[in-house]
Amino acid sequence: MSEHFDVAVLGMGPGGEVAAGRLLKAGKTVAVIERELIGGECAYWACIPSKTLLRAPEAGIEARRAAGVAAPELDWKESSEYRDYMIRNLDDSAQVDGYASQGATVIKAEARITGPGTIQAGNREIRADNIIIATGSEAVIPTLEGLDDCMDEQGNLHRHGVAGDSNSHRRQCGRY
Ligand SMILES: Cc1cc2nc3c(=O)[nH]c(=O)nc-3n(C[C@H](O)[C@H](O)[C@H](O)COP(=O)(O)OP(=O)(O)OC[C@H]3O[C@@H](n4cnc5c(N)ncnc54)[C@H](O)[C@@H]3O)c2cc1C
Repeated sequence: MSEHFDVAVLGMGPGGEVAAGRLLKAGKTVAVIERELIGGECAYWACIPSKTLLRAPEAGIEARRAAGVAAPELDWKESSEYRDYMIRNLDDSAQVDGYASQGATVIKAEARITGPGTIQAGNREIRADNIIIATGSEAVIPTLEGLDDCMDEQGNLHRHGVAGDSNSHRRQCGRY
């Protein structure tokens, strides 16, 4: 049997979270469907961990530039433990409870739109008057002459490519 909602939000990264929060405040019945962790890329794998890890070297560089301050030592163990704390140890149970307590139906499953206003999420069939697709994005690598030279076998930007020796190679790889 299907469940009916005013709105189903697919994906609960920053985009989905803002939409869900406003809809709940407006008194709508909302299903939020997330296949991984509520908070999305930013909270666990992107903005938060990267800025947390960058802060220590940034502070170290600042201190080294200030006369009369002893240079601080970087401690990877402490930095990475703090990163894990900041990304909630990849545990979104507080977010799940938070949305549930605001009245949302929280479904942890991969969502698939199966027809107009219908969604399959795990073994649940959802009907919704409105569907918000907030499933994020994937990077697309453009076709650019010379770009292949800068990539490793996995398609990642190769740091030797970026820091190559010849000026023409460096220009090709986006250094200049
Ligand atoms: C290394 C890095 C650092 C970054 N730093 C910053 C920063 O400092 N500041 C900043 O503003 N931005 C930063 N960003 C960008 C930021 O992470 C993204 O803009 C943001 O996460 C996009 O939010 P979103 O909600 O659109 O998508 P996402 O955060 O990708 O969320 C989409 C969610 O949808 C879920 N989903 C996908 N498909 C389905 C499905 N079929 N069913 C159910 N769920 C599904 C995914 O599991 C995910 O949780 C950074 C990105 C990276 C990679």
